[in-house]
Amino acid sequence: MSAIAFLNIAMHGHINPTLPVVAELVRRGHSVTYHTMPAYAEEIGATGARVLRYSGDDVPLAGPPTPVTVMEQLARTAVRVLPAVLNDLRGARPDLVVHDALCLWGPVVARELDVPAASSFTTFAFNRHVPSPTHGSWELFAAAAALPRHAGGYLRSRWELRRRYDTSAVPLIDLANIRQPLNLVYTSRAFHPQADSFDESYRFVGPSVGARRADSSFPVDQLRDPVLYASLGTVFGADPRLLCDFANALAPLGGTVIVSTGPTDPAALGPLPANVIARRSVPQPEVLSRAALFITHGGVNSVNEALYAGVPMLVVPQGADQSLVASRIVELEAGLAIRTEDVKVEVLRALAQRLLDEPRFRAAASTLQVAQRQAGGYSRAADELERYVQQTGPFTRPVSADVPPQG
Ligand code: UDP
Repeated sequence: MSAIAFLNIAMHGHINPTLPVVAELVRRGHSVTYHTMPAYAEEIGATGARVLRYSGDDVPLAGPPTPVTVMEQLARTAVRVLPAVLNDLRGARPDLVVHDALCLWGPVVARELDVPAASSFTTFAFNRHVPSPTHGSWELFAAAAALPRHAGGYLRSRWELRRRYDTSAVPLIDLANIRQPLNLVYTSRAFHPQADSFDESYRFVGPSVGARRADSSFPVDQLRDPVLYASLGTVFGADPRLLCDFANALAPLGGTVIVSTGPTDPAALGPLPANVIARRSVPQPEVLSRAALFITHGGVNSVNEALYAGVPMLVVPQGADQSLVASRIVELEAGLAIRTEDVKVEVLRALAQRLLDEPRFRAAASTLQVAQRQAGGYSRAADELERYVQQTGPFTRPVSADVPPQG
């Protein structure tokens, strides 16, 4: 049996898909540690992993995320947490490090301890055909120039990391795209854009949807069909007026309308129609298993979970890679998309009505549902990690994200 160390950033979307994988590895007899912030300790502990806490109190990723501010926060966090993480893991002596593709201290730990590492992509995977939000571009450099304090902070932290550690496995700029010889991607090849342009180190294992802690406070038995669900995720603080528009647009079409408000206080939405439930957090996979329609920001996890349940979507991208995700959904006809600035109650209602009335959307979502389920999910992810830890030899060659040109 192996000792496996998970390292992750403090974001639900990056942690959630790893939880069933960790639970499966523990079930198979492996000893798993998982470094996290206190807010996530309980749910990670429920997998059976030994929870280790990052030092310091601040949440690594706070505030509206932009590529430049996220890069700075990640580099600063790496400087802060690395001494204690290395100390913990020198004691635990892992055979394998599994880190999020955004977790820049993951590859540093693996190099310092000289153990193999796998990367976990809870977003899409990225290469030159599928550019990541942090890829080197004029747009990124212009954003950095407009935020000199953050850009300077990033460079200082990177310099400090380089001075203290082996950072050769960390890209200088493209922090959302930290690759390893094994890269787990939590969606299916059918849904991922340009899946054929990724080499064999990328394993499209599909949505990792497993049992979550039950939320007994959620009135599941009171839901009336059709259940219509709206959420802009857990990171982007949504304008309460936007969430209110979702509620008012969907209320006349739905039995029950559920609005997850995330970082926004539900009270800020004001009085809502009687068939609307507004909460900061709902048991999303359970809600999606009942839903006829999902208004989403296009976070990859939310979209994966919706496709796993075969639910058509109306995507309202808020940032990061969500426009890319929206385009893919529209391209595959599993839903429609609208820009935030174009949202009006009547427009939303008309789009939602189309998603409910035109069978092609549900049919496309059902086709993708099959692909998402056949990809294997958490059990396949655990298989891949087990195989990798047993055969680190063939995987230790350097890889590129692109398939080498043929012939
Ligand atoms: N989520 C949840 N309940 C909610 C809202 C979100 O359980 O009320 C979960 C959801 O199931 C998904 C994650 O939070 O696993 C959101 O991840 P995603 O990548 O979609 O968006 P992010 O929050 O990172 O922007």
